[in-house]
Order: sequence, then structure tokens, then C-alpha cells
Amino acid sequence: MERAGVDALLVSHLPNIFYISGFTGSAAILVIEGAGATLFTDSRYAIQDSEETEACVEIVRGSLVAAAGRHLAGSGARRIGIEAARVTMSQKSTLDKTVGRRARWIPWDGKIEAARAVKDAGELAIMREAARIACSSWEEILPLVKPGVLEIELAAELEFRMRRKGASGPAFDTIVGSGPRGALPHALASPRAVGKNELVVFDLGAILRRYSSDLTRTVFVGRAPAEVRRWYKAVLRAQSAARGVLRAGVSAHQVDAMARSVLQRAGLGKRFVHSTGHGLGLEIHEMPRLARGEKELLQAGMVVTLEPGVYIEGKGGIRIEDDALITADGAEYLTHATRELIELG
Ligand code: ZN
Ligand code: ZN
Repeated sequence: MERAGVDALLVSHLPNIFYISGFTGSAAILVIEGAGATLFTDSRYAIQDSEETEACVEIVRGSLVAAAGRHLAGSGARRIGIEAARVTMSQKSTLDKTVGRRARWIPWDGKIEAARAVKDAGELAIMREAARIACSSWEEILPLVKPGVLEIELAAELEFRMRRKGASGPAFDTIVGSGPRGALPHALASPRAVGKNELVVFDLGAILRRYSSDLTRTVFVGRAPAEVRRWYKAVLRAQSAARGVLRAGVSAHQVDAMARSVLQRAGLGKRFVHSTGHGLGLEIHEMPRLARGEKELLQAGMVVTLEPGVYIEGKGGIRIEDDALITADGAEYLTHATRELIELG
């Protein structure tokens, strides 16, 4: 803030508020100034906040943004950092009214997110456990994957097991895409029954102490035909190529290019319709993005997913996704479920 010549910073994105202050409530605005930080929240959190955060807490009746704005007007801050992309038009208009015209709003987008991208030892311990919960839950439901079982039943079994193991919930709506539905990269579990001789894509994650894991595995119900084996091997080779270059100092787009080139050589380039991976942490998608055009250099301590996939309309999808902690000379994998093709039944 000093380097940017900013007197005060108004933080409105809840994962960023948690990251800085420790506050876990669902309504807050955090104002940071040279003198300290003030957290504006409502009376539901009166007890919680004093236990969670060292920020000075103001319990507000009515608009939190208006209270933060009046506080900033009173403190005389002139250059105020703001998460411009996170603030609504209505919040901005409240700020303009309460802070007054002399304030200059300095965009502060992505700066806290960039700090969040590099995890410390405490965060990594939680993320390892969140990944372990996802992997063991998936391994446990494999015996249930057979013709006739509904996708939603498998999703419910996964989410039940993750909660039983300590997760506060799923990191996102669990994806179970069987048969042709697997060709949709984001096939939320539906009431469709799994059929014989079909691929089934599972994409699941656990939230543990606010940190997410993210795991995708694809199985075949029956004996996989040669064509399916060829696709599966290509996706696995693509992921392994990405794993081969992943380390601190490599640029994000290079990792994506490695996976993409393998699938292109296998004639499946057009079937790989999304990016290779994303950062993971307090949010399921955070910085960095492993995608075309992303020049950012990866740093030790970042946690990213590697998730190449192919999607064949009318037939199904194959995706393999692991969570990797980037280190100086490679990566440590947080997900340990087997990546080999599993044929069930
Ligand atoms: Zn996923
Ligand atoms: Zn993912």
C-alpha cells in the first residue's frame, strides 16, 4: 500500500477478507489503513468476529458499505484501493456518496489474489488433507458404479463420504457424467442411470477449513474398446507431459501447451475444449490459470490442477485431474488416486 501511495484499502471479496483477517462470516467489508484494520459486519457475527480476527470490529445496522464509506470519510483517506471488479454499481454509488468527491479510487484487483496463490505450510497441510478426503471418497464408491445406478446417487454417496471425513461440504456441485453426458465438460449429476459399456467422469472436491480440493477420474463400466483406450492413453500422456514441465519458473502457458500438443498429435486437439488447469485454494478457481496466453511465471508454493480432457459428442468424455503443489524442481501431488484406466463390472 505504501509503495502504491494508497492511504486505505477497502476489501469486499470474502475470501480475501478471510485471508487477511481470519473472519469467516458471510457479510463483511474490511478497511485497512496505516493505523490498523476495521472490519464492518452485522450483529449475527458479534461473538464470532472477536474470536476470529484481530481487526477492530464494528457491528453495523444497515449497509456495511455505507458504514465503511463514512469511516473512510472520517479518516480523511484520499487515495483508496478498491477491488473494482468485485464492487457492484450500487456499492460504488454508496461509496461516492459517503466518502465524497475528493477520494481517488485506485484499482486493487488481483493483488490479494496474487498473495493467496502462494500457500504457506499451514495452508498446505489443510489442502493435503482436503485432497486425501476427495481421493478416498472416490475410491470407496467404485464398487457402487455399475449399470443401473443413477448419477445423482453416486454424487450423493461421494458428498456424504466427504462430509463424514470432515469436509464442510463439496467444493462445487459434484460432476458425474455417464455415457454421452460425459461429453459435457460440466455434466452435473443427473437422474440418468449408468449403462453398460460406458465411460463415467467423476469431478469432485472437498472443502476443508475453507480450502478446496479438486479431483477428476474417469472409469469404464465394462471392457473398454480399443478406441476408448486410445483416448484414455492420450489424455493420460497429455497430463503426464504437463507434469513433466511443471516447476517454479515455468510460465503458465507452457504447461498448457505441453498437454495440448500431446492431444493435437493424437488427433484430439479439437476435443480438448478448456484450459489445462487452474489455481486452487480458498476458491475452486483462483490464480494462476494454466491456459493459452498466460505469461505468468509459476512460483514454488502455488497449488494448481492439471486436468486435460477430451469430449466426444454422443460417446462420452475422459478427463484426468490432479492437484499439484509447485516446488523449485518439480511438484508434489496432493491427489494420490490411481490414474490408470479402471474397468468395472
Ligand atoms: Zn475438477
Ligand atoms: Zn478443476
